Amino acid sequence: MKKPSLINRDYKHSLSTVKTRQRPLVPLLLVGTFVLLATVFYFKNTTSNAQTNKTALQIVPINLPSDGQDTSEHTFKTPQKTVIESTASTPQGLSWKQHTIKSGDSLASIFKRFNLSATTLHNIIQSDDSAKLLKNIKPGQTLRFAQNSDNTCVALDYAINNIKTLQVRATATGFQSSINEKPVETSHSLATAVIQNSLFYDAKQAGVSDKTIMELANIFGWDIDFSQGLRPGDSFSLLYESKHINGERIENGHILAAEFNNRGDKYQAVRFIDKDGHAEYFAADGKSMRKTFLRNPIDFARVSSHFNLRRKHPVLNRIRAHKGVDYAASSGTPIKATGDGRIIFRGVKGGYGRVVIVQHGQQYSSLYAHMSKYGRYKNGSYVKQGQTIGYVGKSGLATGPHLHYEFRVNGVHRNPLTTKFPAASPIKKHLLAEFKQQTAPLLGQLAHAKQTQLALNQP
Ligand SMILES: [Zn+2]
Repeated sequence: MKKPSLINRDYKHSLSTVKTRQRPLVPLLLVGTFVLLATVFYFKNTTSNAQTNKTALQIVPINLPSDGQDTSEHTFKTPQKTVIESTASTPQGLSWKQHTIKSGDSLASIFKRFNLSATTLHNIIQSDDSAKLLKNIKPGQTLRFAQNSDNTCVALDYAINNIKTLQVRATATGFQSSINEKPVETSHSLATAVIQNSLFYDAKQAGVSDKTIMELANIFGWDIDFSQGLRPGDSFSLLYESKHINGERIENGHILAAEFNNRGDKYQAVRFIDKDGHAEYFAADGKSMRKTFLRNPIDFARVSSHFNLRRKHPVLNRIRAHKGVDYAASSGTPIKATGDGRIIFRGVKGGYGRVVIVQHGQQYSSLYAHMSKYGRYKNGSYVKQGQTIGYVGKSGLATGPHLHYEFRVNGVHRNPLTTKFPAASPIKKHLLAEFKQQTAPLLGQLAHAKQTQLALNQP
């Protein structure tokens, strides 16, 4: 039997991508007609300081139990770092000038700007190893200089990040450097939102950062289809770490526990860190949140053409199967291997253009077509789930950039969006007690905070 030609098949793909380019993804995600109902609670160890971004609901400070018991104090403060005292004293009474590093700046150009000599720069860099960190300046970081009346550099501060500052001080014996580290406090925050619009929109309204939204989608992405499967009224609650310096929030840490209600189904996940420091999310009973396969090889891409064994060709008006899923995405978007496996083909295959095929064990294989370029894994290499094996393009017969993705079980094409995948390994039996001990308080905090919020929402 003659197989359908790749050329005709991919001509259909190109028809579906034209639509894609006329209907960009972002407005679809951001524009909606539903009223937002979202709120965020923010817990700190000071009772008067429950903050929120303004949303529809009333916010009050909540005390969360750390061990299943109510306490009158907020108990989440866990200092992580200690201050490393600077050995060089900070000069008093000097005026400091600050420079924010821009693209194209070099240490030499910045020193010149402050009328500091190349010799001074050389002496600072050569003074000791930590001073060499100055060589790593990046746009957006700040440098501060203190100079005396004849423009000699007396002190230099280089803010490496929110936490670390390199301090260089002139002494009688030359420059001395030290790294000052501010104490970081970690507290637990809760965010909840009802999705009326899109995950990104509503989560952002609830004060959740992009990074945390991505983490949330990665945790539940195995069970929930975030690009197609959300419905208005779906909701989530998150317990996550937030990091503070002097009471000011600098960044969010990891999600510790989360619940997602999707179309009537409730999913729960909790973070467990093993002895080696390796973190993974599990359901409360210790089952893995991961599956052996990712549902989608690209995050948040719109499906522009579904798996359909009886699809009617829009031009030829004949039935011809589309044995994969097309994802609309811009050229260069990374494509992930959906499961661990070995690359058994990497090359050009007719109308498919640049293709990678991954074999996963005996039964499964996955195919990724129309790549603009390949990832760094060659034919024959082993890849881990989530590793980039190529980039979206329009090689072969495709008029617009998209990924054509196929999934086979025992050689038979299956719909990758609906096929049931086996779960990854659950928590190991000998770790179960430790797992319960570590995760029960987190789930307790999540449940308690949710209840309090529900009570608040009662009329
Ligand atoms: Zn396709």
